[in-house]
Amino acid sequence: MAKKLQSIRGIHDGLPSEVSKWRKIEDVARQVFATHAVSEVRLPILEPTELFIRSVGEETDIVSKEMYAFEDQGGDNICLRPEGTAGAVRAYLQAGLTRAGAQRWFYMGPMFRRERPQKGRLRQFQQIGVEWFGVAGPVADAEMLAMAQRFLDTLGIEKVRLEINSLGCSACRPAYRDTLIAYLNARAESLCDTCNDRIEKNPMRVLDCKNDTCQAQLIDAPEMVAHVCGDCDMHFSGLKAGLDALAVRYDVNPRIVRGLDYYNRTAFEFVTDQLGAQGTVLAGGRYDGLVESLGGPATTAVGFAAGMERLAMLMPDMDTHVVDVVVVSLGDDALPYSLQVAKQLREQGIAVVHAGGGAAKRQFKLADREGARFVAVVGDDEMQQSLVAFKNLATGEQKTCTLEQAIDSLKC
Ligand code: ATP
Ligand code: MG
Repeated sequence: MAKKLQSIRGIHDGLPSEVSKWRKIEDVARQVFATHAVSEVRLPILEPTELFIRSVGEETDIVSKEMYAFEDQGGDNICLRPEGTAGAVRAYLQAGLTRAGAQRWFYMGPMFRRERPQKGRLRQFQQIGVEWFGVAGPVADAEMLAMAQRFLDTLGIEKVRLEINSLGCSACRPAYRDTLIAYLNARAESLCDTCNDRIEKNPMRVLDCKNDTCQAQLIDAPEMVAHVCGDCDMHFSGLKAGLDALAVRYDVNPRIVRGLDYYNRTAFEFVTDQLGAQGTVLAGGRYDGLVESLGGPATTAVGFAAGMERLAMLMPDMDTHVVDVVVVSLGDDALPYSLQVAKQLREQGIAVVHAGGGAAKRQFKLADREGARFVAVVGDDEMQQSLVAFKNLATGEQKTCTLEQAIDSLKC
């Protein structure tokens, strides 16, 4: 026997039971986001590698070790996008929209990161992302979070809590960074290798280390929220007041840092205890400096992304039942009529499988296996009278009736 090929590790197939959840997530996203006047964009999966180096940041895990980047046949450095925000900013600039007023966008699609595959951590995964450009105040952050909360609520995802933090800005972060580096250097020997690597490059990421020994050293680490400047403080207070007004519950978690460099001020995560270490289902924040650093004018912006596979894991299994009726045809003469019956039912939007004619036993077995709600049996008698023998497989009820009557009973 030929060897079976497997998919790449950490890249999995969306089979019907999971795709039905993804579709629900997409439908709810479209419906909820539309009430905030957010429009869908569809952006490329391949982008120039440089885009992520300049935005996400060279010292981040994503750029330093997780990108699927390569030189193509023409010698261009391209990569499979690891996230959506950078591409959205590029598109916004490329389309010349910086003077067009606020832009509110969302997208959904695959992202690629060469991470260590585990539950909830894939190498190809899907994100639903939202990016708002040209929205300055904390009201926008609060409204975005209320929208995210409603999105999760409408999906029936419970037991998710919102945590928020302030990451400061270019005015207050450098001084805080120095304070933090001094604190970490004093404990460097007790911190893991990864943390040691990060002390100079990305010290705030050390706060995020999952290692218990490191966390024990970080108990008294200085926190950004306690070192923010007046403007950042006002922004954070405004956000909290907005969330209160909108009845969105939150906790301040001074340890939230984002794995990407471009965030400032507001950072947030919706987290759950139900997915082990991969507990963040939706995360984002403000990134006021990114548009400028990619060559545009100073532009305020805020956004988030949610991992669809993680959301799907929190959703109850859905009814993936797809067959309404199996049409069973008895005898060769009735076959053309039975095909017409199937066709007419389908024209009414009913999901039909034709059992293919032939031996009755095989056809009934097929109906059983398809999990159909009804079987429509047609033989010579039914054909002559333009009727069907219609059986409800759940109740066992059976009647011989016209196709219209059968359709009526399907609808109730
Ligand atoms: P984590 O801390 O879990 O690594 P992150 O900070 O890297 O997440 P973001 O880049 O902010 O995550 O992505 C937003 C969301 O996308 C995450 O909250 C998560 O739901 C999802 N996500 C990120 N990476 C993966 C992955 N490798 N597999 C599946 N989902 C992912
Ligand atoms: Mg990550």
